[in-house]
Amino acid sequence: MKIVNVDVAIVGAGGAGLRAAIALAQTDPTLKIALISKVYPMRSHTCAAEGGAAGVIKADDSFALHFDDTVGGGDWLSDQDCVAYFVKEAPKELTQLEHWGCPWNREPNGSVAVRPFGGMKKQRTWFAADKSGFHILHTLFQTTLQFPSISRFDEYFAIDLLVDEGRCQGLTAIEMCSGMMTQFHAKSVIMAGGGAGRIFPFSTNGAIKTGDAMAMAYRAGVPLKDMEFVQYHPTGLPNTGSLLTEACRGEGGVMLNKNGRRYLQDYGMGPETPLGKPELKTMELGPRDRVSQAYWHELQKGNTVSTPWGECVMLDMRHLGEKVINERLPLVRELAIAYLGVDIVKDPVPIRPVVHYMMGGISTNMQAETVLPGLFAAGECACVSLNGANRLGSNSLVELLVFGKSAALSAFAYLQELPAPNAKALTALAEQSQGRIRALFSRTDGAESVAGLRKEMMDSMEKNVGIYRNEEGLKEAAQVIENLRTRYQKVILTDKSNVFNTDLFQVLELGSMLECASAITVGALARKESRGAHQRLDFVARDDENFLCHSMVHFNGDQNPTVDYLDVVITQSPPGVRDYSGAHS
Ligand SMILES: Cc1cc2nc3c(=O)[nH]c(=O)nc-3n(C[C@H](O)[C@H](O)[C@H](O)COP(=O)(O)OP(=O)(O)OC[C@H]3O[C@@H](n4cnc5c(N)ncnc54)[C@H](O)[C@@H]3O)c2cc1C
Repeated sequence: MKIVNVDVAIVGAGGAGLRAAIALAQTDPTLKIALISKVYPMRSHTCAAEGGAAGVIKADDSFALHFDDTVGGGDWLSDQDCVAYFVKEAPKELTQLEHWGCPWNREPNGSVAVRPFGGMKKQRTWFAADKSGFHILHTLFQTTLQFPSISRFDEYFAIDLLVDEGRCQGLTAIEMCSGMMTQFHAKSVIMAGGGAGRIFPFSTNGAIKTGDAMAMAYRAGVPLKDMEFVQYHPTGLPNTGSLLTEACRGEGGVMLNKNGRRYLQDYGMGPETPLGKPELKTMELGPRDRVSQAYWHELQKGNTVSTPWGECVMLDMRHLGEKVINERLPLVRELAIAYLGVDIVKDPVPIRPVVHYMMGGISTNMQAETVLPGLFAAGECACVSLNGANRLGSNSLVELLVFGKSAALSAFAYLQELPAPNAKALTALAEQSQGRIRALFSRTDGAESVAGLRKEMMDSMEKNVGIYRNEEGLKEAAQVIENLRTRYQKVILTDKSNVFNTDLFQVLELGSMLECASAITVGALARKESRGAHQRLDFVARDDENFLCHSMVHFNGDQNPTVDYLDVVITQSPPGVRDYSGAHS
């Protein structure tokens, strides 16, 4: 087995992982940093982000307003010390990106342009057309290239953390082109492995978003926090799940039911605003949870449009005109033409809600530390408690930067004066990890296929753990997922080769997804209230008395996971009413 000795190993080379790597390299040029990714960095999901990144920049805006929007948008489940830190750091990080070369859109006078985004009371979303993530990731990636201390391990598939003497001291990974098992011995490990939207069948997420980092930390004893909060984005293309960015609505796109009515006014987001003049925080600029829930009600009322791809509502952007569309939403136009044959300049486009983002993840504090010494986490795989019960669009890209950097600084502070890892003990642990893979290769009595188990998982999650949930459905899902976890032990590998064995990686990804699905379902069953993206038909109200707290799901091996709770940090904003009616303006 190959051994790689480094100071810090980072799992994931998306926005969070790259930002962490840069901060480490800048802090101490003598550090050895391993940047490990199962895909080439530019294929990380951050590249797919479209709409933009939020940070206070205009004179009419303030940190206090960004704070209020984030805390209210998160239905008061965000830790407020974390949000206060985040909003202050956000413009600094976005300016830093600018200095590294990110081509933000400009106002005619040369200042940075911002656009409206859902749930935000002011315009504060910086953007680079509708390819913001693409430009952010390129900027970060090209910046990492100037640091010789960052060694890249592209197409290495991370499997298990190595925990010795109560500290995380590295991990195992498979070099995908050869199948060779590799041990990374590291004083600190940063998880930046992204989300897990692929647990659901209809998702905006790239195929690689299978919750591997969450599952690795979870299996190593770190709780997953607030997993029941799964974000649906209201505007996905109905056939592929590809996202039409919230910027469509930010720029003035409107949502219509089959009667041509702008139905959001019927769900506390009215009154109707004039066409082409979107009013901040109301109607189509309501938050994602509310707008997605409104779709569900329209569906129940029979107000949706039947299309060859299922029930939809329509997103109409024709009134924006070709010039604005080409300038600000070129990718959206391209996507709708390519996948549906609809030109948004000429026709409304059918859309429906689609699984987009995990508010929950590896539990960390504000410094990106987990309860396992030596292990840190940032980005979508982590839950630093910024987003609460519902993330506002454009806060995530900034979260990667702010907390990617925090994770690096914490990992650096931690590794000072640590003894070198005990190579012998770690190798013994790595051999156990290798044994797990070998057992998969040698299994002959298996009867379960990856595709079969995955389909059952996805179907159950979609049916029972979607926008609206109830006790009966959640119980059914919990049972199905636990059953699938058992059956997973019998999954067979049909390809036994070593070179780019995609069959093997799909088996491992399914294992990660099942652990995350289990945590989501158990968390959702235990939370007997409705808050943000977690809506229960049997407990329709928010219950601050009993559930103003983070759920913490703990791994128990073959047994069912257990849930306990952690207080939410409230520093200045007591729970209030979420108002998107326009009364605030
Ligand atoms: C279509 C789309 C549009 C979006 N638009 C916006 C937007 O406009 N604004 C906004 O704020 N947010 C947006 N988001 C959300 C945001 O883009 C993501 O939350 C964020 O980019 C996640 O970044 P990350 O660094 O945490 O993970 P990712 O960018 O997903 O990177 C994860 C990394 O982990 C690696 N990895 C995973 N598992 C393993 C393993 N087992 N072994 C080795 N490596 C592994 C991957 O290779 C990858 O490098 C969007 C999301 C999507 C899907």
